[in-house]
Amino acid sequence: MKIKLLGTSHGFPEKDRFCSCNVITVNGSHYVIDAGVSLFSILLHNGYNCEDVKGIFITHMHGDHASGLVEFVDLMSWGKRCVKPEIFVPTVAGKLAIQMLAEAMDHAREIEMKVYTEGAVFEDENIRVTAFRTGHGEATFGFLVEAEGKKVYFTGDMKKDISDMPEFVYNEKTELIICESAHNCMPKIADKFNNMKTDRIVINHIAPKHSIAEFKEAKPLINKPFDLAFDGMEIEL
Ligand SMILES: [Zn+2]
Repeated sequence: MKIKLLGTSHGFPEKDRFCSCNVITVNGSHYVIDAGVSLFSILLHNGYNCEDVKGIFITHMHGDHASGLVEFVDLMSWGKRCVKPEIFVPTVAGKLAIQMLAEAMDHAREIEMKVYTEGAVFEDENIRVTAFRTGHGEATFGFLVEAEGKKVYFTGDMKKDISDMPEFVYNEKTELIICESAHNCMPKIADKFNNMKTDRIVINHIAPKHSIAEFKEAKPLINKPFDLAFDGMEIEL
């Protein structure tokens, strides 16, 4: 599977970072995790054919993870009806708000959005997505993505001490963990990173005021590949 990080910023966009958006590609199909930036536009700019997007998964409804979904839903409501991914959001309110916005834009076609909760979310011939609840808010989740025999965990937003990291990351092998850094202090949780049974950790959701300095401080303490994400970063597993 190929992973491309299109947006690696925290709650605000920065000069060189969009808000959260990640694309996973397996056998020519694309799966998106989070849409904190206008999703249709950024996918096109990166050369993705939106007709090949099979699933969109929103970790939580904060604007830096979900606001870009409005553009996508609006366009697939009229001019781009050939684009038909399954869309998963964590709250009924989020689903209704996005549907109402699309309708207010005069495009009333009902868009199928599914409200997920903890556990199995999606499975097709390429990938399986499982949601794990985090303590960042009332309906906030991370996603385990399994494809081609590999496992990647996208943490979503978490508590400061990452005590809401799911237990399996310490007990089961993953090839990669993409971990947010806006709400924690990496040097203080270095032991937890070291105990994770993963080949590699990529630090994402970067708040420049503290994430980059903390990353530099933490990196010598970490016992496995530990990298700072950037917009356009590509990872092949
Ligand atoms: Zn966030």
